[in-house]
Amino acid sequence: AITPPILTEAALNRAKQLAKYNAFIALTESLAKNQSKQSQERYNTKKPASEIDGLPITIKDNFCTKEVATTCASKMLENFNPTYNATVVERLENAGAILLGKSNLDQFAMGSGTVDSIYGPSKNIWNYQDDENFHIAGGSSGGSAIAVATGICYGALGSDTGGSTRNPASYCGVVGLKPTYGLVSRWGLIPLVNSMDVPGILTRTVDDCVSMLNVVAGFDSKDSTTLEKPYRKIRLPNANKMSVKALKVGIPKEYFNEHLTSEVYDVWNEVANLLENDGAIVKQVSLPNTEHSIVCYSILNQCEVASNMARYDGIEFGYRADENESTEKLYATSRSMGFNEVVRNRILTGNYFLLIRNYEKYFNKALKIRRLIADDFHKVWEDVQVLLTPTTLTTAPVYKDFVQKTNRDQCALQDYCTQPANMAGIPAVSIPIKLSQNGLPISIQLMGRNLSEPMLLAVAKYIE
Ligand code: GLN
Repeated sequence: AITPPILTEAALNRAKQLAKYNAFIALTESLAKNQSKQSQERYNTKKPASEIDGLPITIKDNFCTKEVATTCASKMLENFNPTYNATVVERLENAGAILLGKSNLDQFAMGSGTVDSIYGPSKNIWNYQDDENFHIAGGSSGGSAIAVATGICYGALGSDTGGSTRNPASYCGVVGLKPTYGLVSRWGLIPLVNSMDVPGILTRTVDDCVSMLNVVAGFDSKDSTTLEKPYRKIRLPNANKMSVKALKVGIPKEYFNEHLTSEVYDVWNEVANLLENDGAIVKQVSLPNTEHSIVCYSILNQCEVASNMARYDGIEFGYRADENESTEKLYATSRSMGFNEVVRNRILTGNYFLLIRNYEKYFNKALKIRRLIADDFHKVWEDVQVLLTPTTLTTAPVYKDFVQKTNRDQCALQDYCTQPANMAGIPAVSIPIKLSQNGLPISIQLMGRNLSEPMLLAVAKYIE
């Protein structure tokens, strides 16, 4: 029989065999082995802690893990060992999940490729040629997506501020859920944009996603933005008992972006047709402010980054440079050595937007546009129950192309379909549909109104 210790051992071995994909920043081998023994004891007394007791998971390395290094893939936090667990980590551990390791990300979750990590890029398993010729895993939770896509882990935690869970899920061919803002605690998640960050879930199937969500969701007194309403566990019906009859599905026309490739477009169409053939009412809708989303997001992101990153001064928090001329110089050197270029750029731009003379013009205006984007969604829910869109406009780009300097500006396009949901706080899920001509996953995204996870995930399961 497969016992938790045997499973853990096998997962650890597999993780080592597949090290070339660079999914993990670190494996937590001895912790995992201990946890698996405890899990075994619970099974011996027929008292498993939950339905995921004994299953190996990985946690993106921007969630605090007690006495386990939490680096954000940055030199700034290279030696940071938190004294506590993030709430979501604590809940997974209490449910008996086995912490196999910490997974790779773009530094401080800023990016869409898992290419900006001091530990090197994560590599997509699909259409992998060799060490240098591979497709990106997507990001910033690329390590988590690979850990699941390889079958090493049953599930993984990512974070999602503009698409960081759904984007790598889409590129790696796994399910990726961004829950409603406030449904899952952010306590212990190192912040990027506090008003948009949510812990995300990556698994191979929608049912597995539900099992993970049921463990982590619900009020947390340590995060004042979590919803007080008690969380009711989701139970999805069997696939053969489900129907989409009369389900109102919206196709937002603004998602027909000029960069959308025909193969992704075709899959989007196919899924829409499938739903319609099965009795759903599929119609075109409009979210007119979508086009402003990327600019608006980048302003808000940079402003919040400028303020969130201020704490890393090399004295109270973070990497300390070997510098003793003056305190100012110590701050400056520690920060310029500790952060990569992406982070430093965002801090600079954010501080510029926040200058008194610019505040109204940029930050305040972006907040207003954000409201309009959210209102677009509220209006559309009068008409439809779910929105069906692509998750990403293309399949996973080739690494070498993606990291070209000239392509760096296009990074924001990666989030085109995903970040409006973060602006509005609504739930969204990415589901893999099929492989492209050259063997890369193509996925679609479903979005629903706040707290519509039970319906959204049921529709996702139906499509899957
Ligand atoms: N790509 C976006 C960014 O760089 C989103 C990242 C995320 O969701 N964490 O900010």
